[in-house]
Amino acid sequence: MKDLQITAIIKVYQYDELNADDQKLIKTAMEATARSYAPYSHFSVGAAALLNNGTIVTGTNQENAAYPSGLCAERTTLFYANSQYPDQAVKALAVAAKTEKGFIQTPIPPCGACRQVILETEKRYGQPIRILLYGKECIYEVKSISDLLPLSFDASAMEE
Ligand SMILES: [Zn+2]
Repeated sequence: MKDLQITAIIKVYQYDELNADDQKLIKTAMEATARSYAPYSHFSVGAAALLNNGTIVTGTNQENAAYPSGLCAERTTLFYANSQYPDQAVKALAVAAKTEKGFIQTPIPPCGACRQVILETEKRYGQPIRILLYGKECIYEVKSISDLLPLSFDASAMEE
């Protein structure tokens, strides 16, 4: 028996430490939260994806009275980006969330299903997606979903 140790690198920034492009992407995600449809959770999530061609697309969480029919902001954004710009890889994805009291303190982590979709998007375009998770206290940055989804399942497993 041996242990398999997996290391994840998550950089922690203050907003002011980010460059103008990253600040803009986060601001865009924060602004998107206003377009969330979250009448049940009152937890409004916004995401902004920067594409290789410089286009930024946004999405928000879309809830439904039949709960599983809703969708998270991250997947709404990536599916929209991949539908509208199928030839453009996603370079970066910023996510922000607020309650009725305002933006949350700690960075918003994507759920497991969204991590899987981010992974598929990376594999599809053969390019890592830098992820910026906004919190009022700090911002987390990872260079690729592999830091948030270690030991992941993708199509390569089916080729063995
Ligand atoms: Zn999700």
